[in-house]
Amino acid sequence: MTLEQILDRLRTDPALAPHLTAWHEIPARAGSYAPLPASLDPRLAAALRGRGIERLYSHQAQAWEAVRAGHHVVVVTPTASGKTLCYNLPVLDTLLAEPSARALYLFPTKALSMDQVDELLGLVRATDAEIRAYTYDGDTPGDARRAIRSAGHVVVTNPDMLHAAILPHHTKWLRLFEHLRYIVIDELHTYRGLFGSHMANVVRRLRRICRFYGSAPQVICASATIGNPRELAERLLEEPVSLVDENGAPSGPRVFAFYNPPVVNRELGIRRDALTEAGRLAAEFIRNRIPLIAFARSRRAAELLTTGFRRAAEAAHVPAGRVAGYRAGYLPSERRAIEEGLRSGQILAVAATNALELGIDIGRLRAALLVGYPGTIASTWQQAGRAGRTQDLAAAILVATSDPLDQYIVRHPEYFFGRPPEAGLVNPDNLYVLTSHVRCAAFELPFDDNERFGPSTLPEILAYLQDQGIVHREADRWHYVADAYPAQEVSLRSASTENVVIIDTTEPAPRVVGEVDLASAPGLVHEDAIYLHLGQQYHVDRLAWEERKAYVHRVDVDYYTTAQIATDIRVLAEFARGNGAPPPAHGEVVVTYRPTIYKKLTLDRHENIGWGPIHLPESTLHTTAYWLTVPDLAVPRDELQGALVALSHALAHVASLFLMCDPRDLGRAYEVHSPHTDRPTVYLYDTCPGGVGFAERLYRLHPDVLAAARELIAACPCAGGCPSCVGPVLEVGATGKARALQILDARLVPGAVG
Ligand SMILES: [Zn+2]
Repeated sequence: MTLEQILDRLRTDPALAPHLTAWHEIPARAGSYAPLPASLDPRLAAALRGRGIERLYSHQAQAWEAVRAGHHVVVVTPTASGKTLCYNLPVLDTLLAEPSARALYLFPTKALSMDQVDELLGLVRATDAEIRAYTYDGDTPGDARRAIRSAGHVVVTNPDMLHAAILPHHTKWLRLFEHLRYIVIDELHTYRGLFGSHMANVVRRLRRICRFYGSAPQVICASATIGNPRELAERLLEEPVSLVDENGAPSGPRVFAFYNPPVVNRELGIRRDALTEAGRLAAEFIRNRIPLIAFARSRRAAELLTTGFRRAAEAAHVPAGRVAGYRAGYLPSERRAIEEGLRSGQILAVAATNALELGIDIGRLRAALLVGYPGTIASTWQQAGRAGRTQDLAAAILVATSDPLDQYIVRHPEYFFGRPPEAGLVNPDNLYVLTSHVRCAAFELPFDDNERFGPSTLPEILAYLQDQGIVHREADRWHYVADAYPAQEVSLRSASTENVVIIDTTEPAPRVVGEVDLASAPGLVHEDAIYLHLGQQYHVDRLAWEERKAYVHRVDVDYYTTAQIATDIRVLAEFARGNGAPPPAHGEVVVTYRPTIYKKLTLDRHENIGWGPIHLPESTLHTTAYWLTVPDLAVPRDELQGALVALSHALAHVASLFLMCDPRDLGRAYEVHSPHTDRPTVYLYDTCPGGVGFAERLYRLHPDVLAAARELIAACPCAGGCPSCVGPVLEVGATGKARALQILDARLVPGAVG
């Protein structure tokens, strides 16, 4: 069968068709082209022609013009639209004309930077010029590092290396900083939330050092789909940025379908397992030799899919080597072989985690299966975009799990198809983040009294650092005087400098796999927790609280853990309060956590299969929150409590949808009688100390969030609550679901209640 025939069958099969909740057809698009620019260096033009490129896509030409006009630029076009040429062309053109010029490329991950260096070097070789491009990361050997510092025209690295290894040693990088003409920031959309807030400060430090050496580099950003590319780029650069977002690359026709597995237990809202359903769909593609990629949300799920693929291949007499799995934890060489196999067509079907989501080139396949909603509109389009060549029909199918987000999306396809992707939020002036980078910046170069570094609070921060014995003011200048080397204590992935380090003891040589900030540690790395990192599960064997260390080992289990945390929240300041019933507000809060017990829940059905106590001290988190007062329902207290739990469960999930964040980035709390509002109140707070802007955003999105929460609850087929809407009946009580709806309806019909 052809892909067309498979899709036709899917739409007419009485066992499948009723469960298709969306069938979205995207017509083919002709490309829009422009000639190679007349001003392009002839060597570069010849190199392009040698690779079969006779003309540019219109967006590549626009980017060229904008860069030549001296603007900072952000290019936003879909996967495989030739984005890298948008920066490689102007950069190489400058390097050909001025051999002393330098460029710095920043990619969020190592795998990506290797891929990009290969591509860049391919183009350089074709010009026969003496241009050297190197990756500089943790694996770069010491002697190579010296060569890169003095002779690398293009230095390719990641923000963490820039922050901890390059900026603090800027004197060794004199050549680079003196002649730096371009900074390329690819995968801009990854710099959001806390990581983006750090990145904005790393950029402040980078440009401060450039000013010191007398250079003023132009910045070229590239991004996958995101709702606010120009705003995000301007927040990171603190200067105007030109936007190039009209994609000129051609594409064939595409179908995007949503499939919601049928309900098997109405009472509990349990549906048929998404992995099994996806496996059946995949088998159909494999049988018909249709190149396929399936995305799973966890490493374990990817493994299960791969096993299913192998079976389907065997049944269809497809050689076993033509199906593969791809996830974090594979050796780089294994991953490269799979990428190459996908590009050449040798591999027919691959089951991957989002490790394959970013810009790594794997050619283009004909079908993409998304097992579970990837969490954001933007990454959903990115994964779906892995299927689709320039001419042929391509298909993407999203198979929903029972998670609230999945259920909301597949039941409201108009939300997904009708809405621009989420905006990326950053808060570069988060006081914790800012103070950390002021320390690092002071180490790099002394601050002048009248220097600017972000907001106007710099003098106060410097005065605070002086009190701490870190800087000392002398003759209008602030000098770094502490012994410690500050960048090493600051992780770009966490807010406070106080973190719990996670140490993997599976192998004889223990290895640090990550960090969690102190406030989140009790809930995530208590003893016997299952900690997830890059899709790998770890069992926490011991949490040494005083030493801030968690010792873990790798496991492969079919459950996850969730901690019950008694949460007290106190409002310190209210920044704004809106109208409406119930009225929203946002402000500054202190959250006190006291972990009590943890529960083990199965991965597929979220069934409770055990619990244990947690023995840890209280911790506090200073952050920002959005809150909502609830009309008094005049019901018994336990019913009210159930309603608040139900409401906060639904709100937190839909809120993460609007914020483009992981549901775990939002904490939730409620008070039956809040001393601050004098009413029952539900809070959603930013779990990052100091906040990254979620609370204010939620306050602005308040009507949308409430409406979406109402729809999520109202459309759920369960009787009295389930994990897909308000949480299980056991937690919300028999009336929780109904009362939560009643509260939300009160807002839609003002004055109906309270
Ligand atoms: Zn439900």
